[in-house]
Amino acid sequence: MGLPSHANVVIIGGGVAGCSIAYHLTRIGITDVALLERRQLTCGTTWHAAGLVGQLRATRNLTELAKYTADLYHSLEAETGQATDLVSVKISRPSMPHWRPMPEPL
Ligand SMILES: Cc1cc2nc3c(=O)[nH]c(=O)nc-3n(C[C@H](O)[C@H](O)[C@H](O)COP(=O)(O)OP(=O)(O)OC[C@H]3O[C@@H](n4cnc5c(N)ncnc54)[C@H](O)[C@@H]3O)c2cc1C
Repeated sequence: MGLPSHANVVIIGGGVAGCSIAYHLTRIGITDVALLERRQLTCGTTWHAAGLVGQLRATRNLTELAKYTADLYHSLEAETGQATDLVSVKISRPSMPHWRPMPEPL
């Protein structure tokens, strides 16, 4: 595919970050987007990822972002026809008997 002569937004790198930015820009109506990848889409670190979408992160914002991501993966197939094959795994307390509820903050 030839390079466009003009784009409002140019994203360099077709890993999960670049692809996600392109996807979300087009979702809010910014469609004049060019995604430049030097080799092949997702050929970088993204190709090596195990595909885990951990839900508990270091900060509240990151945790909310992770939750958004998991929800998005579930809705992507309906939206695009492309299966993500995401499987939800929940760890319940009986399988982790040493877990205790956190005490309420003082
Ligand atoms: C072994 C392993 C397992 C992992 N498992 C998980 C996991 O289970 N869950 C999780 O959330 N994260 C995981 N990660 C981390 C996750 O893979 C990365 O955080 C994520 O893929 C980074 O995405 P990225 O788009 O920033 O970078 P990349 O995927 O590396 O994408 C960068 C892209 O930019 C392109 N590029 C670079 N320079 C140029 C240029 N000048 N012009 C054009 N294109 C260029 C590259 O070719 C590449 O395709 C794992 C990482 C590794 C190494």
